[in-house]
Amino acid sequence: MSNSIFITATDTGAGKTIISCAIGLALQKKGIDVGYMKPFQCSGDDTDFVIKTLGIQDDKNLVNPYYAKEPLAPYVAFKREKIRINLDKVFSAYHKLKKRHEFLIIEGAGGLLVPLRENYLVADLIRDLDVPALIVARAGLGTLNHTLLTQRYALDYGVKVKGVIINNYQGKTAAEKTNPNVLKEFLDVPILGIVPWLKNVKSKDGLRRLGKIAGENIDLKTLLKTEKPLTRQLIKRDKDFLWHPFTQMRDWLKDEPLIIDEAKGNYLKDTNGKWYLDGVSSLWVNVHGHRRREIDIAINRQLNKVAHSTLLGLSNVPSIELAQRLVEIAPKGLIKVFYSDSGSTAVEIALKMAYQYWQYLDKAKTRFIHLENAYHGDTIGSVSVGGMDLFHKTYKGLLFESYKADSPYCYRCPKGKNYPGCNFECLDRLRDILRQHHSSTAALIVEPLVQAAGGIIVWPEGVYRKMRELCHKHNVLLIADEVAVGFGRTGYIFASETEGVTPDILCLAKGITGGYLPLAATLTTQKIFDAFSGEYKEQKTFFHGHTYTGNPLACAAALANLGLFKKEKTLQKLQPKIKFLGKELEKFKKLEHIGDIRQKGFMVGIELVKNKGTKEPYSWEERIGIKICQKAREYGVILRPLGNVIVLMPPLAISKEELKQLVDAAYKAISFVQ
Ligand SMILES: *Cc1c(COP(=O)(O)O)cnc(C)c1O
Repeated sequence: MSNSIFITATDTGAGKTIISCAIGLALQKKGIDVGYMKPFQCSGDDTDFVIKTLGIQDDKNLVNPYYAKEPLAPYVAFKREKIRINLDKVFSAYHKLKKRHEFLIIEGAGGLLVPLRENYLVADLIRDLDVPALIVARAGLGTLNHTLLTQRYALDYGVKVKGVIINNYQGKTAAEKTNPNVLKEFLDVPILGIVPWLKNVKSKDGLRRLGKIAGENIDLKTLLKTEKPLTRQLIKRDKDFLWHPFTQMRDWLKDEPLIIDEAKGNYLKDTNGKWYLDGVSSLWVNVHGHRRREIDIAINRQLNKVAHSTLLGLSNVPSIELAQRLVEIAPKGLIKVFYSDSGSTAVEIALKMAYQYWQYLDKAKTRFIHLENAYHGDTIGSVSVGGMDLFHKTYKGLLFESYKADSPYCYRCPKGKNYPGCNFECLDRLRDILRQHHSSTAALIVEPLVQAAGGIIVWPEGVYRKMRELCHKHNVLLIADEVAVGFGRTGYIFASETEGVTPDILCLAKGITGGYLPLAATLTTQKIFDAFSGEYKEQKTFFHGHTYTGNPLACAAALANLGLFKKEKTLQKLQPKIKFLGKELEKFKKLEHIGDIRQKGFMVGIELVKNKGTKEPYSWEERIGIKICQKAREYGVILRPLGNVIVLMPPLAISKEELKQLVDAAYKAISFVQ
């Protein structure tokens, strides 16, 4: 992305236009084809001047999409002329010009904090274009402050800065003479050149001299350099030092790993500069896309207050605010929030909470019921209530015993998928266990509506509600693990809401911070909370707490995440996209090895089978899922399978076009490999 530069300045009148010309001329002299763009111009003829100087041939509409007559900030000038600014027009002009030229110079308007339209500054434009910036500073008194302010703001705001150019340098005053060295000392970016003041610079002769001086005084090499982290070296160091989760490291060491360096919106960029659509939301966590301004800013602001302080014996502001917000949006009746850092710990806490609760009421109730194909995390407690043999059997000796009920897995229902008159026979085993063992059972733990890691197993409507009724009837607590399904993934903020269920304990993690930082919450009811209340000496305290519990940075991110749900009407906008996704999935049905296609909201599982008639699965050794996901990478999409199930779980912010790209890549990859 570095064959463009965004010329900004410490101030109006620092000489952006002259520097644009200088760089353009110097690059042209090297035989480089240069393009130019000035998205917003308010009065004057700067654009025409650069067009003429550099001999730009592009359509004026592309070079300068927006022109206003008055010399004002664009936000004010265009408003006064009743011109509505459409940023897409700017982006599309940028992409066209960028494609046409080897190097594109984009000139800003004024400095970084000049407003372009409502809630949008020059700095936002640079961020959104994702082009490195070059700061033009004037020489003289005041330069240090302006330059350092601009640089610091840019870097804090996530604008990449290539360097600084000092313009109109005359070297007369002490301030001018000392500026370059002092700046060198205080800047975090290099000074890429000092351009002297030239008499009559806009004359033909002046420009000739400018081009020559630019060639000599500006560090063009650094300007042109695309920063490529050394992929080879990184791969070697990865293989030397890292142990990756859920990964057979022998395979990993043989393969070429992809190393992600950057992300933006719904895309991830590897160290070679290739972009990929994030088809599984960076393992089910991302919600509003990567590098969302609102979340970035929230974390930054919190960082300026306190990064971490403990909830053991103290409290902090973001954790209080978030707890209230969570209670407001959670199913009615869940009124207390207990924080931790991961889905596994949220579950661990739920289990201990349920267990200890019964210790005060009925000591016999010590066991749990879980479902087949359940996944609740990787710590010992959550593995104990896990239902996936593959992940869990190794640790059998370490685990506590738990009753296992059937999973509402319709595709593999003995009576056939969705057979008419289905009466939730999948719950028979649960009914039996409850009837027989309710007096020893503390809680039932489930992933409501969709068993995620088990293969995106989507439950028939009503099953979850039935489970709630059964738990009520047998005086057993219900723990809803909404770590995967929560925060909009199913189309509702929480899956429990869909069936009007309030669990006794709710576990949240993954999407809670929009995919930014590790945070989890376990919510519960007044009844359970009250059971722990007593005199200090009674020792009814809930003896549990992780060191980073209620981390302020993570809570600030979570608050911003929830703020975006509201501001962007994320769930409302999601509904048509869910339908669109459903329609797009239709075409998979005719593929030979597609056994089942399951969708709930934005959670999709495509189950591949060796034989469609007998539903015979592919064997583990065939690595069919892995192969398909490898292939999808070639089509620019990151996927991660669950065994023989291809998972699509894009960020909720994905656009229809991107959704189409995702589905098409999955389709092509499956067609190719199967
Ligand atoms: C991912 C997941 C967990 C575990 O969360 P971690 O943050 O990885 O510990 C627990 N339950 C469900 C349903 C999950 O999908």
